[in-house]
Amino acid sequence: ATARRRKIVAGNWKMNKSVPEALALVRDLRGQVASLGDTVEVVVAPPFVALQPLHVALEGAPLALAAQNCHWESSGAFTGEISAPMLAELGCAYVIVGHSERRQLFGDTDEQVNKRAKAVRAAGMTPIICVGETLAEREANQTLAVVERQVRGALEGFGVKDVAGFVLAYEPVWAIGTGRNATAAQAQEVHAAIRGLVERLYDGETAGRVRIQYGGSVKPDNAAELLGQPDVDGALVGGASLKAGDFAAIVKAA
Ligand code: PGA
Repeated sequence: ATARRRKIVAGNWKMNKSVPEALALVRDLRGQVASLGDTVEVVVAPPFVALQPLHVALEGAPLALAAQNCHWESSGAFTGEISAPMLAELGCAYVIVGHSERRQLFGDTDEQVNKRAKAVRAAGMTPIICVGETLAEREANQTLAVVERQVRGALEGFGVKDVAGFVLAYEPVWAIGTGRNATAAQAQEVHAAIRGLVERLYDGETAGRVRIQYGGSVKPDNAAELLGQPDVDGALVGGASLKAGDFAAIVKAA
């Protein structure tokens, strides 16, 4: 039986938008997604410094806030880091963990991704856990092995109750910011494999409930096909989330 999963579309702004620009973008976005009701969950992940102003600006709006990363300790001598409880206090519902840019540019390991996800959960938020293979790994037929290792690593120590509510994001590294999205068939194959793994690690109900986003060059013109796949439950959008019109079009395609 296929569980009904509410689609979730999140905009990962990365290191873009000043606070005034962030406020202007959500003002636009709010108008454009207002008529959608609650068929799709819409999330924005601005830089840390815009979280508080957006928290205030989004009061009562059908737009959830996410942070792009967090540290695993809740406080202490960790100069330059931001903790999960700090983010929860600013109204974040989600925190992205293990984005490929964090893994590739900042050395995030599967173990650290797991610790970050645990901190997110402990602070009452939901992690959006990113996984995905590089081009070299895909060409070496390692895609499913890499993604399985990353999912197992990220979920280590979590129980059924936690994982059913989690969001996973399959983001092939070669598709991120390249304009070269995975085909719908490529995405569906990996999404189905991830859901199968969750079923093996937990149970069928958990696998039926966990939501799996696709990310990597999602645009208004490819969103409907990607999001139409049975195991694609939403999108994690980078570049196209920086323009209200494009992001709203992707949300509508969901
Ligand atoms: P992109 O980024 O949509 O610009 O490819 C996706 C992501 O990194 O989450």
